[in-house]
Amino acid sequence: MNEGDLGSDLDRVLITEAEIQAKLHELAKQIDADYAGQDLLLIGVLKGAVMVMADLARALSSPVEMDWMAVSSYGSGTKSSGVVRILKDLDIDLAGKHVLVVEDIIDSGLTLSWLLRNLKMRQPASLEVFTLLRKPEAVQVEINVRYVGFDIPNEFVVGYGLDYRQRYRNLPFVGTLAQHVYQ
Ligand code: 5GP
Ligand code: MG
Ligand code: MG
Repeated sequence: MNEGDLGSDLDRVLITEAEIQAKLHELAKQIDADYAGQDLLLIGVLKGAVMVMADLARALSSPVEMDWMAVSSYGSGTKSSGVVRILKDLDIDLAGKHVLVVEDIIDSGLTLSWLLRNLKMRQPASLEVFTLLRKPEAVQVEINVRYVGFDIPNEFVVGYGLDYRQRYRNLPFVGTLAQHVYQ
């Protein structure tokens, strides 16, 4: 599936591949400047952040460490509850490190706020957040997100790491699904 020929599963393109890449390069420059002379550890939250992590990391000009965490958030239906379980923990010790958590999307922010509390206990030198996408509700939570790619409307999106029933993660752009896919 590409942006020109969406097939029958996708409704519309919300953010194009070119827009994503341009934004990542712009934010990478900012990160390069903000962390100049410091060692940086990127933490990607599986599985959604795989694409953004890979492209952001390659847009940075200095070498960074990269590690991954997988968490599952218990919730009713499509809403997360903030009750989180670690499925895969980090391999790297965070103590004294400058840490940037890389997220695909922040919706309610409950998962991330739990994660930040957990990571803070490991005593990093600093802890900041990067997210490619942010939904309106997220603005209401008390999370300081240092880098935001795009603020998007309150719609369910797929692509560029984001799934619907584990599919569509490999789309190079972000779009919305057609009604019939949910049925
Ligand atoms: P939060 O705790 O911020 O409500 O949940 C964030 C998680 O919910 C994301 O990491 C993602 O897995 C999922 N999520 C929230 N909004 C969307 C969306 O529009 N599309 C997809 N595919 N997943 C979403
Ligand atoms: Mg995520
Ligand atoms: Mg998902």
